[in-house]
Amino acid sequence: MQLTKRFCALFAIWLGAAAAFAADRADTILLNGRIVTVDGRFTIAQAVAIRGQRIIAVGNNADVLELQGRGTKLVDLRKRTVIPGLIDNHAHFIRAPEHDEMRLDGVTSHQRALAMLAERVRAAKPGEWIVTLGGWSEDQFTDEPRGFTLGELDAVAPENPVVLQAIYSQSYLNGAALKAAGIDATTPDPRGGKIEKDAAGNPTGVVSGPGGVAFVAAKIPLPEDEQWLANARKFVAGLNAMGITAWYDAGGRGVSEKHYQIYRTLAQRGELNARVFWTVTRQPATPAEVDKVLAEIQQLTPFQGDDIFDNIGWGESVYLPATTSLLRNDFVVRPEDMHQVRRIVQAVAEGGIFLNAHVEMENAIDAYLDEYEAVNKVEPIKGLRWAFSHLDQVTDAQLERMKRLGMYAGLHGRPLIQGALMHKVHGERAWDMPPLRRVQDSGIVWGLGSDATAVTTINPFYTLWFAVTGRMIGGRKVNRQTVTREEALIAHTRSNAYFVFQEDNLGSIQPGKYADLLVLDRDYFRVPADQIKEIKPLMTMVGGRVVYQSGNF
Ligand SMILES: [Zn+2]
Repeated sequence: MQLTKRFCALFAIWLGAAAAFAADRADTILLNGRIVTVDGRFTIAQAVAIRGQRIIAVGNNADVLELQGRGTKLVDLRKRTVIPGLIDNHAHFIRAPEHDEMRLDGVTSHQRALAMLAERVRAAKPGEWIVTLGGWSEDQFTDEPRGFTLGELDAVAPENPVVLQAIYSQSYLNGAALKAAGIDATTPDPRGGKIEKDAAGNPTGVVSGPGGVAFVAAKIPLPEDEQWLANARKFVAGLNAMGITAWYDAGGRGVSEKHYQIYRTLAQRGELNARVFWTVTRQPATPAEVDKVLAEIQQLTPFQGDDIFDNIGWGESVYLPATTSLLRNDFVVRPEDMHQVRRIVQAVAEGGIFLNAHVEMENAIDAYLDEYEAVNKVEPIKGLRWAFSHLDQVTDAQLERMKRLGMYAGLHGRPLIQGALMHKVHGERAWDMPPLRRVQDSGIVWGLGSDATAVTTINPFYTLWFAVTGRMIGGRKVNRQTVTREEALIAHTRSNAYFVFQEDNLGSIQPGKYADLLVLDRDYFRVPADQIKEIKPLMTMVGGRVVYQSGNF
């Protein structure tokens, strides 16, 4: 009797375990792969089991297959490489779908660019604008490293307005765009820009300088809501196809509440196929504007969203007059400007809010650190994980100071298209901008990103390729501070998950985390370094859902 009773109890336990086990069955198992987990030990596994949005097991085929149930979908990876979804630590993708751009990312031939334009013109409706708002530079063309003449553009696009903007340096317009924008011989130069004119005083189609580029961009009509939503869906689909599953959005010039609303709408409809973590970006330029911003900071309550779309804090602009730019080496630190920085930084610290700040040049980094250290004495910032983005000239001593403040370092692949220009502006020093190797060796938590879409290319495999080879698009070597493939991959995944406060959810392929991952068409670790930029996902998954699948998979 006693025995039977015990047996019954055991049987009940066994039944319970079996029932629990059935509920543990995987929806999907990826097997026979080379799973680069990017966990703390950089484990390579064979298989991954996914249930719902999350990973439930990682290991060898036999162990993971124990989670196979009747409805489990098996995907044979046939030895292909799987990596965590790539997280861009600095992007302006919320702004990007303003226009369905013709992108020249990675195009290394001037002739090819014109051929692409011709194709686009053939598909365009009458009067439709064809625009490229940065993401390329003249230096990336290996056949003819130059921009576009009015005659060239008019021959290809006689009727549709065309604007091809190179970085933030200049825009090349055709005759139809000049006409539609109302730019003629009598148009005065915009502030911070120049309308180039020929000997007879007529516009040549080139409008230069940051102010000129902004002046032209503002003439391009914004789309209706439905078109804007369609642009955003298409844009994110493009990101998924390149391997991006999440990003930090740094807002940017001209970004309005409308831009965020478009993405919020997609998120609410369950149609946002990437995770967006953003900060409130404001660009105060006077003490009075700082007053307004301080009131806003006091009202800010981050982390009210979800793991798809969420505000995480404040930045990346702090105070406009105390802002450097990559292609200038004449930044002067003015105490009155740093005083305004201090007011903002202090308010952010008092609110216990995350702050990301744009700083590039050595003197600016020192000036910001001085303010941060002073604030830290009154209002400790260490647990807030504050970050600097760009850091093109950061020194060892500054990295030590950042570490003491518990800061994160965000670096970006801007030399991919600006490398040649950086060498013109900064000379020898450009070889170490940004100093990826130095930052890696310092031991600080650091991550990689693009700063796309205007000042660099979007594709994260180009960023990884740059970090490993130091080359710009077109092939020219521009940076000597390269890192290993493993270091670059960690910087584009796990470290960036930490940066956006998602280290428990994202950044590596481990049980409990979201199934955000990529199946690659070739092995990131074994292809010749120059091929890293050619790597394409065959399949991209976000939260266990396939958001992109190539025809070859
Ligand atoms: Zn920036």
